[in-house]
Formats: sequence, structure tokens, C-alpha cells
Amino acid sequence: MRYVSTRGGMAPATFSDILLGGLAPDGGLTLPEDYPTLAPGELANWRGLSYPELAFAILSKFVDDLPVDDLRGLINKTYTVEAFHTETITPVKALLDGVSLVELSNGPTLAFKDIALQLLGNLFEYALLKTGGHLNILGATSGDTGSSAEYAMRGKHGIRVFMLSPYRKMSQFQTAQMFSLQDANIFNIAVRGVFDDCQDIVKAVSNDAEFKARHAIGTVNSINWARVAAQIVYYFKGWLAVTERDDQEVSFAVPSGNFGNICAGYIAKCMGLPIRRLILATNENNVLDEFFRTGVYRVRKSGQVVQTSSPSMDISKASNFERFIYDAVGRDPEVVHELWRQVDTHGFFDLSGTDAFRGIHRFGFVSGSSNHPNRMAVIRRVYQECGVIIDPHTADGIKVGLEYREEGIPLLCLETALPAKFEESIVEALGRSPERPAGYEDIEALPQRFEVMDADVDKIKEYIRRENAPIV
Ligand SMILES: *Cc1c(COP(=O)(O)O)cnc(C)c1O
Repeated sequence: MRYVSTRGGMAPATFSDILLGGLAPDGGLTLPEDYPTLAPGELANWRGLSYPELAFAILSKFVDDLPVDDLRGLINKTYTVEAFHTETITPVKALLDGVSLVELSNGPTLAFKDIALQLLGNLFEYALLKTGGHLNILGATSGDTGSSAEYAMRGKHGIRVFMLSPYRKMSQFQTAQMFSLQDANIFNIAVRGVFDDCQDIVKAVSNDAEFKARHAIGTVNSINWARVAAQIVYYFKGWLAVTERDDQEVSFAVPSGNFGNICAGYIAKCMGLPIRRLILATNENNVLDEFFRTGVYRVRKSGQVVQTSSPSMDISKASNFERFIYDAVGRDPEVVHELWRQVDTHGFFDLSGTDAFRGIHRFGFVSGSSNHPNRMAVIRRVYQECGVIIDPHTADGIKVGLEYREEGIPLLCLETALPAKFEESIVEALGRSPERPAGYEDIEALPQRFEVMDADVDKIKEYIRRENAPIV
């Protein structure tokens, strides 16, 4: 399998070549030259597989330059009962009639990002051990991504994580999740400022090419290809759980922000998984819903991003969207290049009236958005009718999913976080707190380890320099 860039400026590369990277060297995103497709009877053969077996069957189609036993070993080490608290890793739970929940949030940070990041941690460590290199991951977080990245990289050889977060601006639960980590390779930096200050510091450090190279600075953002690939697996697992016939169609409802999760579903469909609809749900920050309704992709300025009660979907642009647009415009890198030049100069591109947009629905996408009152109403309804407490992001997905539900087509709603992470919203909706999973009851009482610093690029560089002693 060879990987190319959506902007056409990268020599075809292997999986290992692109594993540790973010953007392609030409500023585009990496994708397989062709999506692998299912052989006749292959789906039927996968019915009895465990999650790690299924993950190996799927991922070995994308990762063909590692010894197969090594890949199998990394997958087996990742998807364990210890890490995901359940044998099936992503159990499917019946909700309303014909509607099921695909539980993706049983990992260490109680959010779906663990599924990809836990594997990424093992892949990164493996790649670095092979080359003898090391990596300093620098990131900014307002909560979810940072903790998933830290739990994925804790204790890994050759890797350090420097995670910036706005001091005293995260929920107590999120703060405790991150700051209670005592691993020597995890550095929590609480910045006196807001999330944008943290992000600006990461950008400034990344733009210093000399510093970046000297200190092997890397990221784990959502455009990493291996993250998308790891997420393809649970679309198959969910489909297998609710079907009996091998040509039976299902639809998926996906709470969306950066388009990473649903991009994986789209690739599963391209591989031949019988997916009827990919139902994309946004919150009040409806960049993607606007595109699928109108053909206009309009990014928001940071002041235009609304803070919502499904905060992990509060995005100004959808960083993985370019992967899908590449296919939508017939895999023409020149066109993609031009569209993102328009985004950079004018803040939008407009495909309405083009053949690409007229044909967009053949890919299976439909979209809708949800807002705070919708979210509260869905949390209440699912609790009253099914006795299940869902989190605000998952509620956005179910809200839009129900609008597109069709008779006779199972609807699978992806659960992207557990309600325990968003206690305030649950109390507002239900007048009671969600239960916490075992082991998380007193997380706020654990000792915390973090450094408070000013929003000062030079001081933070100095800190990285000081902690960046050779790793033994
Ligand atoms: C990251 C996240 C999302 C959005 O997923 P994308 O892959 O960015 O579309 C939705 N819900 C939760 C809880 C998340 O953490």
C-alpha cells in the first residue's frame, strides 16, 4: 500500500514513512493511493472474530510494511480488557426501537479518542525503538484530546508529552484525569491564560524549525493517518453486531467536529461495508452541516466559535475534511490545492453548482445540527425511555440520527464520551449525576503533578530544553 498527499506534492510513501507525521510535506493530508476492498466472503468470515482479530484483519490491509507478527502483537497489547474494561471493546447496546448505541468510550479517558490513541502510543513506541529515535510531543488541550494523548503515551520509551492547558479553566474531572498522572515522561503545563494562548504557543514553537528539529518536536493531532485507520475497525464491529445477512445495510450517526471519526466510516463504506447513510451531526458550530446542505465550506474565525455544552465539537474548521473533498473532486490534487488556497485567502470555498457537489450524496452523507435545548431533550428522552444516560456529544448524534432514521434500516449511534465527563450538563438535563465507572470515583482527591507557567513562548521553550535530557 502506498500513501499519497491530497495536494499531490509527496512521493508515494509507506505506512511507516507517514506514521509519526502530521501534515504531508506539501501541506496536504495523507491517504492510501487506493482503498483496499473486501474480498468476496470476507465479511462473513469476520463474524466470529474478537476485536483484536478484526482489527488485525482490517489494519493489515493498510499497514503492509511491518512484520505481521509485530502488528498483531501491537494490536493485541492495545485492545485489552484491562484498558477497555470489556471483552468486546466496543459493545453495542439496544436503545430505542431499531436504534443502538455503539459504546466507544470504555477506554482510560472515557472517550472514543482512546480507541485510536491507545494504538498510536504502541505504534509510536515501536517505530522509535526500531530507529533509536525519540519524540517530544507538544500539544494544547482544553480537555479531551490532551488526556487521551497522555494516557496513550504514558510510560512509553522514547516519548515525552508536553501538554499545555489553560490554568483553572478545565473541569475538575478533566484536570484530575490529566494532572494525577505521575509518569516521568508526562509534563502537564498549566498556562496562565485561555486555550487560544496555549494553541498560539504550540504554533510558535512549531514554526521555529530549528528548535523543532533539534528537540524532535511532534504532535498527535487528529489528522494523523493511523488514528483514522484505527477508527475504521469499530464501524465493522458495529455492523457485525446488528446484522445477520452479509449484504444488510445499516446507517451510522456520528457526532462530528474535525471529521476524523466519520471519515473512518466513509472509508469503511468505500471498502465495501454495507453502510447506507453516514449521518453527520454537528452542534451549534455547524461548519460541516452547512457544507453538506449548501456546498459552501466556510471556516469560522476564532471569535465566531460558540462555546457549547458539547465542547469537544466546538471547531472553527474540520481538519480531516480535506481527505473527503479529495475524493469528492475526483482525486484531483490541483483542485484540492486551489480550494484550500481559497480557504486561506477568503475563508471559504463554494462547490454549489459544481458536478462534485451535485454528486455528493452518492457518498452516503447526510447532515444536521443540534443545539443545547435539543441535547437536553434527547438526554432526557433516552433516560426516560431506555434508562440509559448518554453524554451531550452522543446526544447530538442521536438527535440528528433520529431525523434520518428509516424503517427497516438499523441505526447505529456512536457514543463518543461517557456522561461522567460532563456531569454539569447531565445534572441540568436529569436533575441527577451520572455514575462514574469503577476506579474514577475519587479521582479529584489524587495527588496532582503540574507546572504553572505564564503564556510566554521563550519560557516554555526553556522548560522543554531543560526536561529534554537524553532518554535512557
Ligand atoms: C473529538 C470528539 C468528537 C469529534 O470527533 P471528530 O473526529 O473530531 O469529528 C466528538 N465527541 C467527543 C466526545 C470528542 O472527544
